[in-house]
Amino acid sequence: MTVAPPSPAEAARAQAIAWIGQAPKRLLIGGQWVDAVSGKTFETLNPATEQLLCRVAEAEQADVDAAVAAARKAFEAPSWSAMSPHSRTRALLRIADKVEAHIPELAAIESLDNGMPLWYATAAATACADIFRYYAGWCSKVLGTTIPSDGSTLIYTLREPLGVCGQIIPWNVPVLMASIKFANALCCGNTVVLKPAELACLTSIRLAELIQETDLPPGVINVLPGFGPTAGAALAQHLGVDKIAFTGSTAVGKQVVRDATSNLKKVTLELGGKAPNVVFADADLDKAIATAVKTFCGNSGQVCSAGTRLFVQESIHDEVAERVASEAATWKAGDPFAADTKLGPLISARQRDRVWSYIGAGQESGAALRLGGKAWNGPGYFVEPTVFDNVKNGMKIAQEEIFGPVLSIIPFKDEDDAVLQGNETTYGLSAAVWTRDVSRAHKVVKALKAGRLWINTFGEADPAMAFGGYKQSGWGREFGAESIEAYTQAKSVMVRL
Ligand code: ADP
Repeated sequence: MTVAPPSPAEAARAQAIAWIGQAPKRLLIGGQWVDAVSGKTFETLNPATEQLLCRVAEAEQADVDAAVAAARKAFEAPSWSAMSPHSRTRALLRIADKVEAHIPELAAIESLDNGMPLWYATAAATACADIFRYYAGWCSKVLGTTIPSDGSTLIYTLREPLGVCGQIIPWNVPVLMASIKFANALCCGNTVVLKPAELACLTSIRLAELIQETDLPPGVINVLPGFGPTAGAALAQHLGVDKIAFTGSTAVGKQVVRDATSNLKKVTLELGGKAPNVVFADADLDKAIATAVKTFCGNSGQVCSAGTRLFVQESIHDEVAERVASEAATWKAGDPFAADTKLGPLISARQRDRVWSYIGAGQESGAALRLGGKAWNGPGYFVEPTVFDNVKNGMKIAQEEIFGPVLSIIPFKDEDDAVLQGNETTYGLSAAVWTRDVSRAHKVVKALKAGRLWINTFGEADPAMAFGGYKQSGWGREFGAESIEAYTQAKSVMVRL
């Protein structure tokens, strides 16, 4: 009898499980994998099965102190500080190649740890290699300027690294978050202490292992799995940290800002969103509807830039609502490794219960439930796609970030009404407009108050395109030229000739 070879998904899952089963997952400090000073560990679960994957060392204050000291030493060491820009480019390209060679494994670890379907995790891991390549190109382009003067002086600026960067990332797309943070900081010559989220930290650990294999000097990256109020707060408050970059909820972002006042470290924040996705009656509805569903269901809606408020022109509201609901109903939930699974579970029981409370709030507020609202039968923290239509923009489900596959469809009259309602939110991370009218498209994107806009698409990304928030969606930008400023500081110099 011949046994069929495993499918690529099965092979990747087996490889990921083998890695997860290896030696305990520890902290990376100064180039060494070590236990926490306290000896404490915590559990990480598979959200699709609710079963234990493994235990991970739990960083606290003492570990943060050690990691910050290691990052400082690495920052001052000539092996990093005096590295030529071209050598730094090569270092980042080596990381990109390493990541690229391990996409299936990284994706499978992410699927097991976060629950996202393998197709989604594979796309995220693939983007990571591109992100390291993008920032590799920047190393030799972190330019200063020369300033016009009267000829008796020479005035110029230098753009210099900030130093030790504390980076706190969420659990929603961990491998992508870790890659963005590492690549941006390293290309500008900084060193890093990364704190992944306690709910999904395994790909950050695996990514750091891979980076270690590329011979980056010890201490340039340090990784501290642990909890927010302990390890995260210790990093945000630390006097030895020069910058804190945080991605997560707006509430925690505000706490990080308060903690960062300890030494007035620089702060950048990528926070929540409640993106308006505006569809005019003249739009290509086939594309607009398929994309509208992809943006609120992708990663089970656990995406800060997700298009969770679908504004639809009144004349097509009912048609679009019906088509969105039937398209969303095709988003089959289930085993993240199954080829036909489009929707994975939410990250935790707490997150599932939170999303359920919003679905309840939507029903109580009188919005019409078109799809969903049925409890999941079986293990895993699944919530199926849920669509409300005829929602009023002031309702709780249209104002608060739900972080689940829940869509509010809101009718609007005309351009002015779409902009007015679209901007009626405390958030301002992203937005999109769908129309065949070129002038209207550009007028509306100009009027919408958000950091990243799309016309006739949603959610597509390019590392050259800055990402960040207006209003309470954040401070500063990641990606693009703006992100180089966020990880450097200017020094101006006058020479008397
Ligand atoms: P969620 O509540 O959905 O997990 P958070 O914004 O709380 O989202 O988490 C994002 C990241 O922030 C995680 O790494 C988490 O551990 C961290 N975090 C949570 N609370 C704090 C805090 N008080 N200080 C610093 N980091 C924190």
